[in-house]
Amino acid sequence: MIYYKSSEEIDIIRESAEILSRAHAEVAKLIAPGVTTQSLDRVAEEYIKDHGGVPSFKGYNGFPGSLCISVNEQVVHGIPGTTTLTEGDIVTIDCGVFYKGFHSDAAYTYPVGEVTEEVKKLLKVTKESLYLGIENAKSGNRIGDIGFAIQRYVEDSGFSVVRELVGHGIGKTLHESPEVPNYGKRGRGTKLKSGLILAIEPMVNMGTRNVIQESDGWTIRTRDHKPSAHFEHTVAVMNGTPEILTTHKYIEEVFNI
Ligand code: MG
Ligand code: MG
Repeated sequence: MIYYKSSEEIDIIRESAEILSRAHAEVAKLIAPGVTTQSLDRVAEEYIKDHGGVPSFKGYNGFPGSLCISVNEQVVHGIPGTTTLTEGDIVTIDCGVFYKGFHSDAAYTYPVGEVTEEVKKLLKVTKESLYLGIENAKSGNRIGDIGFAIQRYVEDSGFSVVRELVGHGIGKTLHESPEVPNYGKRGRGTKLKSGLILAIEPMVNMGTRNVIQESDGWTIRTRDHKPSAHFEHTVAVMNGTPEILTTHKYIEEVFNI
């Protein structure tokens, strides 16, 4: 069942997304060698609650954090804890906000201090692939057009797309139909219509696309231990240009980029 949102409902998701985007920036200010992942989690949770929201992830199927924090070879669903960030790491912060009955969801992968040129390229390509996917999230297109655009760009850049985890519809629940794979064939899958809200979220590996789950029952990491990056936005399908409801601009202001 796909739920199309009214313009009033999209207005609420826009508000949810604003709190989320600003919560991300609060976390961004603290990304540095020596910081523990649980301290980042606390800051996000406090910001979200102070602004009338609820962290979407906390308690979701029993997940203990407000953030998923995934370092280096960890792809997604890392649990905040006593892990300390180290110079040269990359760290993915994934966060969701539930506000006035609606969820929003966004992720960003940061370099911690100086990283290698190959890692910089991984971050750049993953972020750019997100926007190429988003460009295709317009009415009349199909789900496969999004995944096709992401996959082609990522693979042409020499990296690989994770298949086991996908983007999703979002609204009154965090994960709704349809699934939004980051791979696919042009012209295939569900037809996109105005009012569909999607979380588009390429997960890109430097090495092979294979992933495994760690023994904590949550964390997904690359099988070959090479790094992985993840960028995500919540997007409204419109007639014509899609509207990106979350924004990375507050994060990028922190870093002057
Ligand atoms: Mg997310
Ligand atoms: Mg998501």
